[in-house]
Amino acid sequence: MTGLSIVVPCFNEEECVGLLHERLTGAARTSFGDDYEIILVNDGSRDRTWPIMQELSARDPHLTCVNLSRNHGHQLALTAGLDLARGKTILIVDADLQDPPELLAPMLEVMRSQGADVVYGVRRSRAGETHFKRATAHAFYRLLSSATEIDIPLDAGDFRLMSRRALDVLLAMPEQARFVRGMVAWIGFRQTPFLYDRAERAAGETKYPLSKMIRFALDALTGFSSAPLKLASHFGLLLSVGSLLIILYILYAFVTGQNIQGWTSLMLVVVVLGAVQMFVLAMMGEYIGRLYSQAKNRPLYIVQDIAGQARSPRKGLGQVPEEATAQSDSPGGSGTLPISRAS
Ligand code: UDP
Ligand code: MG
Repeated sequence: MTGLSIVVPCFNEEECVGLLHERLTGAARTSFGDDYEIILVNDGSRDRTWPIMQELSARDPHLTCVNLSRNHGHQLALTAGLDLARGKTILIVDADLQDPPELLAPMLEVMRSQGADVVYGVRRSRAGETHFKRATAHAFYRLLSSATEIDIPLDAGDFRLMSRRALDVLLAMPEQARFVRGMVAWIGFRQTPFLYDRAERAAGETKYPLSKMIRFALDALTGFSSAPLKLASHFGLLLSVGSLLIILYILYAFVTGQNIQGWTSLMLVVVVLGAVQMFVLAMMGEYIGRLYSQAKNRPLYIVQDIAGQARSPRKGLGQVPEEATAQSDSPGGSGTLPISRAS
């Protein structure tokens, strides 16, 4: 078993991978000497990320690169990498070097001294991110923590160090809509925060446009809380109180012989009712959609090629199809058979 596995999901990161590889190698060597592996996952990039990965893995026997069949999204790309990891200790970082790999040594120190299974990075500051990103992230983590029963740490990303047993539990979880940082929090064991300053992106720009951010937030919310499903009853209560007041008002107007003019108030009631109902339906739809995709039970991701050391994903609770063993000619060669992890 390898001492350390570093897993990195990459999407359109051609400007970052070279530097990333260099800094990861430096950090890994400092703490683990030769006993480490780096797993880069190409999440269906449309730029030169994959060819660069192939070149790098031809030169570095410590490097394994996985090419997914299309863009599966950050959390699934990360899962694909974690499935391949063989290390006793696992480090997850982003490709853009916002999470400095050099923090590996102090994080290991915390892990050892406190006997922790998970050491997760908590952002003390976030350099080079827009006000919008910071404000939405701030609001999101607080909304999530108020809606969920488990303690998902505030302002922590996926930057973390994990023990083998924590990773094994994580990989045994079959959900399709994956919110990895929440799932790790759910596991339990001893988890310790590690404060750090988030650097700016090394190059390029964020791969999380608003649409992906919303989807991510909904995955988190629906995955860890049923509070949105109870919205209907809260709205119901509120509207009943409202309707009682309106009835009283109408009675009063009738007794005192007033003639109530209707268009505005009627319109208001129709619009408010319509909006509330649609919102509640949409919330239910979010859960039903996820139930549906879970019921289909498709593989979480499809691997197209593997460059570097040949191997197949570990079998977690899911199954790996019989023919799906990685085929790699030599270090640097590319596997050709599709590999997937069924959930
Ligand atoms: N990423 C990915 N697939 C995607 C989007 C992002 O693998 O569909 C990776 C990306 O390459 C990076 C990490 O996820 O390594 C985090 O993305 P990014 O740094 O753009 O997010 P931000 O830091 O802006 O939240
Ligand atoms: Mg980033």
